[in-house]
Amino acid sequence: MNSELSFNLLLADQSLSADLRAIAEKVRSGDRISFDECVLLYEKAELGYLGILANSIREKRHGDKTYFNRNFHIEPTNLCVYDCKFCSYSVLIKERSDGWEYTMQEMLDIVKKYDGQPVTEVHIVGGVLPQYDVAFYSELFTSIRKHRPDLHIKALTPVEYHYIFKKAKIDYATGMKMMKDAGLESIPGGGAEIFHPDIRVQIAKDKCTGDQWLEIHEEWHKLGMRSNATMLYGHIEEYWHRVDHMEKLRSLQDKTGGFQTFIPLKFRNQDNQMSDIPEVSVIEDLRNYAIARIYLDNFEHIKAYWAMISRSTAQLSLNFGVDDIDGTLDDTTKIYSMAGAEEQHPAMTTQELVELIKNAGRHPIERDTLYNVITDYQNHEFPQEEKPKFYKLPVLN
Ligand code: SF4
Repeated sequence: MNSELSFNLLLADQSLSADLRAIAEKVRSGDRISFDECVLLYEKAELGYLGILANSIREKRHGDKTYFNRNFHIEPTNLCVYDCKFCSYSVLIKERSDGWEYTMQEMLDIVKKYDGQPVTEVHIVGGVLPQYDVAFYSELFTSIRKHRPDLHIKALTPVEYHYIFKKAKIDYATGMKMMKDAGLESIPGGGAEIFHPDIRVQIAKDKCTGDQWLEIHEEWHKLGMRSNATMLYGHIEEYWHRVDHMEKLRSLQDKTGGFQTFIPLKFRNQDNQMSDIPEVSVIEDLRNYAIARIYLDNFEHIKAYWAMISRSTAQLSLNFGVDDIDGTLDDTTKIYSMAGAEEQHPAMTTQELVELIKNAGRHPIERDTLYNVITDYQNHEFPQEEKPKFYKLPVLN
């Protein structure tokens, strides 16, 4: 059913409350919804209603187009000076024997493994360690650029940048300029968690504050560069904390226009200090994607990490505002599997990803980091020998 028809049927429903009808009419005419209206959506709106609103925005912006990219991850270390309660990934620095810490050479060797392969991006993010400082990361970025100038370097979050700049006694503007000069091209959305201090202090105390996170992105945007933003939802926060988080992002985006994509991240409760908190349902995941699509009217893209929420939920999410599915091609990332994600070995070939998108009735587009189209796969024929393997069943624990 097309989104216009769905909207008409929704508005014709006499049982729709006046407040939800008013929001639907705003969305239909492209008006921005308010903070309170967004809280109301979280509290009252049913999945079907949210899907109609979010899908109409998604289709107005992108039609059926669904983006993915070919990247690989480098996770320099799982040791960390911080101790975030939700983190299933890090090992405290004092328990060093349980962790890994790559040398510069080891990281460059990972990059070299992809020589000749059609990847367009390296995504670098991990724990925070004192020896990885401004000089280290500058040299790493410069060396990667020198070895492979066409590879887009998307690296580190404000959590790392705040730490290394503070240690080097340089301000954010100077530090981000140094990173840019070294070869950094964009910054991923991590480390945002929930900005509101009442929640942040309980789940991620000591690392950069919400305001500092936003300030680092702002400095980066001022250099004409792009970044992403995330939100860790489904733990101890209330709905209005999520809205507060998105409001801060929407305001900064009004100012700079530097964000490309918003990525809601589901809290997973495996092997961390918040294991007693139940995870939210798939229904809540889809509601959250949809509400993000409705509220963040100045963000071009909403992304789902298929490795985190499973392939089938990722397919469903394409009807709830999501237009981008992250495209890790091999299992170079341990962040999701260690947090209890559905995909314990997140590997998918391009053909598998293309078929996953097509099977959901959407139009697969391979993009680069900045959303330039690399290949339109709608009518693409894969050579015989690349026929898909059977999917591995997820192996838990
Ligand atoms: S979430 Fe990041 S900063 Fe926090 S403990 Fe884990 S690796 Fe360290």
